[in-house]
Amino acid sequence: MTQLTTTLIHHPYVPPAGFDAPQPGIFKASTVFFPSVAAMRSREWKDKSAYTYGLHGTPTTYALEERLCTLEGGLQCVLAPSGLSAVALVALSLLKSGDEVLIPDNAYGPNKALTEGELKSWGITHRYYDPMDPQDLASKLSERTQLVWVEAAGSVTLEFPDLVEQVRICKRKGVHVVLDNTWGAGLAFQPFNLLPDTESGLGVDLSVHALTKYPSGGGDVLMGSVITRDPALHLQIKLTHMRLGLGVGANDAENVLRALPSMALRYQAHDQATRALAQWCDNQPEFAQVLHPALAASPGHAHWKSLCKNGPGGAAGLFSVVVDTRFTQAQVDAFCDALQLFRLGYSWGGPISLVVPYELETMRSGWPKHLARGTVVRFAVGLEAMEDLRADIEQALQHLR
Ligand SMILES: *Cc1c(COP(=O)(O)O)cnc(C)c1O
Repeated sequence: MTQLTTTLIHHPYVPPAGFDAPQPGIFKASTVFFPSVAAMRSREWKDKSAYTYGLHGTPTTYALEERLCTLEGGLQCVLAPSGLSAVALVALSLLKSGDEVLIPDNAYGPNKALTEGELKSWGITHRYYDPMDPQDLASKLSERTQLVWVEAAGSVTLEFPDLVEQVRICKRKGVHVVLDNTWGAGLAFQPFNLLPDTESGLGVDLSVHALTKYPSGGGDVLMGSVITRDPALHLQIKLTHMRLGLGVGANDAENVLRALPSMALRYQAHDQATRALAQWCDNQPEFAQVLHPALAASPGHAHWKSLCKNGPGGAAGLFSVVVDTRFTQAQVDAFCDALQLFRLGYSWGGPISLVVPYELETMRSGWPKHLARGTVVRFAVGLEAMEDLRADIEQALQHLR
């Protein structure tokens, strides 16, 4: 007879198979058992046909990966512990010493910090290109260019580039193009099929998504994904992912699985309220410019319209204002501090509206010619009633008047 402790550990009871319920279940594991040494030696994990170790996947993470592929129109997916780690994973997997990476000047800031702070010291060079000038991108491609980042819309300033032309330019040169698809989220346009009606197949090679935002939807989970449609490219990402030991927590994966069914509805709600607020802000004299791709005067509006309006649609839940130069930094800060419903905080995609003032001078190579001078304030619109959010901005504007 084994001792009680041992029996509690090696208990003979096996619950019946076939449990069927709305959620796929939270499987937590570092260790995964093998029935034999032979199985241990031969087990294949890269194609999701089995399990080998918690880091390499569980039923929970496999289920999430497959749903994200469906969301973005990809075929393979790896999960990373944050959006930024997914960005870094792509860079570390596809770039080596002597290579060059091209990044739009309005890229997600930490992507630039990764490039300047880490990649550079490993002999990987970078160049920033003007997201609104495809010829600038074309002229910066060289023999050494191995990766091009694109972002639509751009971070903070929300310019919408000619994504189709950017991708065409990269394809002609045979350079991998990776989209940071956090804004579009798989709902505004299809990253792997940018021209569904006429020219099927034109799309990015990789899509990175900060699941922290709309897929999580709660402001309480950090996660990222890298989606591909090419098995060889996926394997390259997957091997680097494995070697770096990147994994996600089962509870976090379950949180995202739970939020995915409502994602399209939430995105639509964020979108509608954001358009209404951006429109209203456009009529306020304190703001020299309002940046939102669906506004006719916003940089790249025509590109947004041709890519998104005739496709699945959508314009996410972000807009920025450029506060006129006649107001001091202290006044702009007071405006942000006076907001009650818009909380001060980074990230977006959850129910609570957020606001961040930015110092664009420190973020861009030069002041973009399509932007008015002033202080940029970015609003991330949550799920509160639009009228309440508008009233909040209106009362805070008293601090500028
Ligand atoms: C938030 C964000 C990321 C990074 O996501 P984290 O999970 O916060 O690391 C990457 N790209 C874009 C465009 C983002 O908005």
